[in-house]
Amino acid sequence: MLVLSSPSGAGKSTMAKRLLATDPQISLSVSATTRKARVGEIDGQDYHFVDQDRFDHMVKTGQFLEWATVFSNRYGTPREPVEQALAEGRDILFDIDWQGTQQLRQSQSGGDLVSIFLLPPSLDELESRLRSRAADSEEIITQRMSRAADEISHWAEYDYVLVNDDPGQCLHEIRSILTSERLRRERQKGLAGFVRELLAGE
Ligand code: 5GP
Repeated sequence: MLVLSSPSGAGKSTMAKRLLATDPQISLSVSATTRKARVGEIDGQDYHFVDQDRFDHMVKTGQFLEWATVFSNRYGTPREPVEQALAEGRDILFDIDWQGTQQLRQSQSGGDLVSIFLLPPSLDELESRLRSRAADSEEIITQRMSRAADEISHWAEYDYVLVNDDPGQCLHEIRSILTSERLRRERQKGLAGFVRELLAGE
C-alpha cells in the first residue's frame, strides 16, 4: 500500500497519474466522494461520485477501509478492491489525506503501508498552482490555502517527505522509493524457497 499525501496543489495528482501510467504493477484505489465532479473528471476513474445517502449507507455497512471529511465533503476508500488487490499481491496507490493515512495504518492491512508526503517549495507556489488549475472558486482556494497549513503539520507522520520543486525529479524519487520498498526482504515472495534451492544447488 503506497500512500501519497500533500496539501491540494502540491502536485500529488500529477505524480499519481504519471506513476500509474508508467508502472503496470500498481493500480489506484478509486475513492468515493460526496464532492461534485470537476470538469474533466470521470466517474469511476477519478472518483466514485456518490450522494450523501449512498455515502452514509457505505459507512454503515462497513464498505470503507477509512473515510474522512475534507473541505466539508466526505471521501472514503472502498474496502473490497483494496483487499482483492492485496490478496493478489498487487501494489495499490492511495491519494488520501493525513486522516485517511492514520486510519489505514491502524487497519489490519496497515502493516504493509509505505507513506510519502509531498511538500510544495513555498506557499506562494502552492497558491499559484491552485489558481492556474482554475477548477475552484475564490472561496474554495482560500479554504484550501488555510487547510494546507493543517495538512502540512502532519508531515512528520510519514515515512518519506519530498519537496516537489521539480516534478521530474520528484517522480524519480517516488519511483526509487517504490523500487526499494519492493526489494525489502519481507516483501519478496518465494525468496526463502529460492535461497533453499540455491544452496541445494538445484
Ligand atoms: P480533491 O477534492 O482535491 O480531489 O481532494 C481533496 C483531498 O481529499 C485531497 O487531500 C485528497 O488526497 C483527499 N482524499 C481523496 N480521497 C480520499 C479518501 O478516500 N480518503 C481520505 N481520507 N482522503 C481522501
